[in-house]
Amino acid sequence: MESGSNKTIAILGGGPAGSTLATYLARKGMNVVMYADGKRPPLIVGESLVPAVVPYLRDLGIEDEVASYGTWKGGATFVYNDEYHLNIWFDQVRGGDTPTYSYNVPRDRFDATLRETASRAGATIIPTTGRLEREGDSSRLRLTPETVEAAGDKLAGRQPDWIIDAMGRGRGIPKILDLPVEAGDRKDTALHAHLQGVEVEIATNVHTDRLSKGWCWRIPLPGRVSVGFILADEHLHELGSTAEEQFDNFMKQDPMMREWSKSGRRISPVMKYNNYQARVSCGVGENWALVGDAFGFVDPVFSSGMLIAMQSAHALAEAIADGSPGAFDEYDRYVKANLDAWRNVIEHFYDGRLLTLFKLGDHFRQKLWGRVMDFHFRKHMPRIFTGDDVTNRYSSWLVEFMSTYGLYGNDPEELRIL
Ligand SMILES: Cc1cc2nc3c(=O)[nH]c(=O)nc-3n(C[C@H](O)[C@H](O)[C@H](O)COP(=O)(O)OP(=O)(O)OC[C@H]3O[C@@H](n4cnc5c(N)ncnc54)[C@H](O)[C@@H]3O)c2cc1C
Repeated sequence: MESGSNKTIAILGGGPAGSTLATYLARKGMNVVMYADGKRPPLIVGESLVPAVVPYLRDLGIEDEVASYGTWKGGATFVYNDEYHLNIWFDQVRGGDTPTYSYNVPRDRFDATLRETASRAGATIIPTTGRLEREGDSSRLRLTPETVEAAGDKLAGRQPDWIIDAMGRGRGIPKILDLPVEAGDRKDTALHAHLQGVEVEIATNVHTDRLSKGWCWRIPLPGRVSVGFILADEHLHELGSTAEEQFDNFMKQDPMMREWSKSGRRISPVMKYNNYQARVSCGVGENWALVGDAFGFVDPVFSSGMLIAMQSAHALAEAIADGSPGAFDEYDRYVKANLDAWRNVIEHFYDGRLLTLFKLGDHFRQKLWGRVMDFHFRKHMPRIFTGDDVTNRYSSWLVEFMSTYGLYGNDPEELRIL
């Protein structure tokens, strides 16, 4: 096996995780081959980026390009019902170095930008499906002969030093090696489409609406709004048999959606996603590693996916460059801790405690003592929406403590996501 910058790395999957990793490795002088099958549905989820993604855009040198086709995102609006909305502005979040804005992006353009960046950095993009096989009964993997062949003189008939699964939720390596995959608690389905004529309260904010059943997002994109709703599977079959029927019927049925979509027109097919909450038991093996969704995905709420994809890509590049077993263990622990921290916050969203807490905070800010406390809370609590502070122990503890003892008798059940 080669060491240092002479390593050869094969990445299977050309989404945000694969392309970001390819760029960082190529910048370190490694020989990087990335297989990108280009099989993309007409729409792809992952359009709303949290502010903690912006430093990666800067580091990759693509912020201006992303700004040219994305929409500027200044905050988040939580719609509890037709009477109460809560706005969180990223520029009011105290402390931390995270930028106070972000972007919403059409995913096809964003993925293309990331791939071109990887190519400019020196990675070789092979526009085909990469395939793997197990080396005998061992837990080592190799590329199939056709996959090696497709890389031409970049692999020159040899196997790479490392094989990286960046295949998204397809998770090729866990399937081949039969690795345990832990599913999340929620069994929801997401239906996603683009619409024109949909109202948003604040044009610069991503909207999260609590609905009669489930919740939905409204993400303003240039000339359209991305709408997605998350419903427990048991409610779906009442709405029709196709994704289109289910989407259109629910828009008419839910009182709040009916109101903001009254002049709306769906301009895309409807995409369906389910069983997406999952985490693989082990993200690193003898000559392979998992990155991005291939390692784990928590939930669409709070838009953590693209951040975790980029953070894990950066961390894995560092581990590969270091090359020691300790560095890979550290990578494995880091990604798992990140996924667990998000999962904890997200559970507080679904059980109603977080929405109750934020509503109370809004109320108490009207009082003097509330304003004093607010100074402290604003440093820690809303930073979960910027993606900045999710793994910070004190912030996590504060969310836990406040949502257990700080609800002042308010029953979180009232704001539970059904
Ligand atoms: C309903 C829903 C809503 C979401 N909304 C958001 C959001 O608003 N914001 C956010 O940050 N995140 C969101 N996410 C998460 C986000 O979509 C993912 O976290 C992100 O796409 C992960 O990137 P990735 O590169 O790991 O995987 P992917 O984006 O899935 O990329 C994998 C790529 O690999 C290719 N591929 C697969 N197998 C092979 C192979 N064998 N050879 C070659 N190529 C291959 C695929 O075609 C694909 O292009 C959402 C997720 C869901 C389910």
